[in-house]
Amino acid sequence: MNQIFQVIRHYIFLFIIPCTLTSSKVPFYRVIFKIKDHNEVYEIHELGISIEEIKDNWVVTKVNEEEMRILIAHGYKLERFIEPPIKTNGYHSYVNMVAKLDTLTILYPDITNKFSIGQSLEGRELICLKISDNPEVDEAEPEIRFIGIIHGNEPIGCELLLNLADTLLLSYSNNEYLANLVDNREIFIIPMINPDGREMGWRYNASGEDLNRDFPVPDSSIGGDANWEYEPETSALINWADTMNFTLSATFHSGARVVNYQWDYTHEIPPFHSLIREISKGYAIRNDSMFNSPDPSYADSGVIRGSEWYIITGSLQDWSYHYTDCIDLTVELSSEKWPDSSLIPELWRQNKNSILYLIEKAGTGVNGIVRDGETWEPVYATVSVSGYDKVIKTDPIVGDYYRTLLTGSYDLTFAAPDYCTLTIYNLLVYGDSTQILNIELVPAGTTYVEEPKNLSINISSEIVTQPFIVTLGIPETDIYTLSIYDLAGRKIKEIFKNRLYQAGYYNEEISVRAIPEGIYFLMLNPQNRIGITRKISIFDY
Ligand SMILES: [Zn+2]
Repeated sequence: MNQIFQVIRHYIFLFIIPCTLTSSKVPFYRVIFKIKDHNEVYEIHELGISIEEIKDNWVVTKVNEEEMRILIAHGYKLERFIEPPIKTNGYHSYVNMVAKLDTLTILYPDITNKFSIGQSLEGRELICLKISDNPEVDEAEPEIRFIGIIHGNEPIGCELLLNLADTLLLSYSNNEYLANLVDNREIFIIPMINPDGREMGWRYNASGEDLNRDFPVPDSSIGGDANWEYEPETSALINWADTMNFTLSATFHSGARVVNYQWDYTHEIPPFHSLIREISKGYAIRNDSMFNSPDPSYADSGVIRGSEWYIITGSLQDWSYHYTDCIDLTVELSSEKWPDSSLIPELWRQNKNSILYLIEKAGTGVNGIVRDGETWEPVYATVSVSGYDKVIKTDPIVGDYYRTLLTGSYDLTFAAPDYCTLTIYNLLVYGDSTQILNIELVPAGTTYVEEPKNLSINISSEIVTQPFIVTLGIPETDIYTLSIYDLAGRKIKEIFKNRLYQAGYYNEEISVRAIPEGIYFLMLNPQNRIGITRKISIFDY
């Protein structure tokens, strides 16, 4: 049997002593029991029992007296579960972790910002370290979030995140790749989201709640914690994340060695399933031990969809993806929950490139800034991809968005209240590179019919594919001609000639079929005044 379950077990529940709690919640019992085959985990879920962990067909969880009776009535032989002793030597306690972050902010004030997102039940600050250039400012850069110790007895994540902070900060002045990540990303690290649980050396927070069963469930059900209240740690994370615009995130656990992705709560496939799986595999493949010998062994290439393992409700990753549109991964780092601290350097070596990969990945696909075409102010808009039931939103302060995608051709739609919806058709995206697509949305309604001040040609991106949309700003009624010229000044194509426009904005679809790839100019000429040009790069595929 695996080391985690090498514990003294006592039969029948009369001997099981309830865990003492600091709050008045119902007492619970930690139990372990054997199942015959994996499908039983779904039957147990149907019985209303929330599974904590499963290993080699041994299930560990906490139950109240009624749940205990239900399990016994269904033939399960419950035994008392006792955690293996923990060896805190060589691990950062809460105080040591805070001191470490304090030191880093003193040593690297220009690229760090330390703040608290709230307090734990026992009043410990939930500390976050932001690493980025201009760390006090919300810039147009992808935001990435890493969280450690949501389960108080799974401390490796905290150690890896402190190693990550050290690596990024120490290497900023002499490693171009890492400096680039710091300059072009906003990296948020919360080493201990459950400091009370860590200090108590157990899975739960100080009121005995499993924080990874405490988040709102996408189907609005009550969740594995069986109550509607949110613990202070959960509320703090929700309230803070709602003000942010995370693209990718990961929470670190231990007790297995696998990347677990959405959904946990249902067998349904999440929107952008292939993309999420690919990003998860991108993590696992950079970690030999995870990719080649995942735990559970039936994981595929070191990754597993949560519900294929066992269903849980109220998980952080389900909440993140459903409610904040952030692709959030649950990374299980080590089969042993609390390994000897001498193994930390090796665990960091195994996971370093995977974590850096996630940071880099957050800026790939299509991204840009959505602005008001007239005022140039950022617009809080939705970005949707045709055929996928999941929108992302721009950052309301900066207007930036990051749509990670697999390589392919997509129709992207940008929409915001009071603006004309804009769709960019047949956008070719390379999943591992970055395509900038800045958008100018034209105000709808009264603003739309307002006369533009200047003649203008607005295109979402200088790089255009077949066909593309331009927005013409017409300041006064006249007869207009729109043509394409090459760099030598030759007219290649006339889009239209002598067309009468009233003052206003007009979207026109332009076909560039049969025009070779290259750089050209769009020229818009009124009959009675000087025209304007706009550079375009025609990209054929
Ligand atoms: Zn865990």
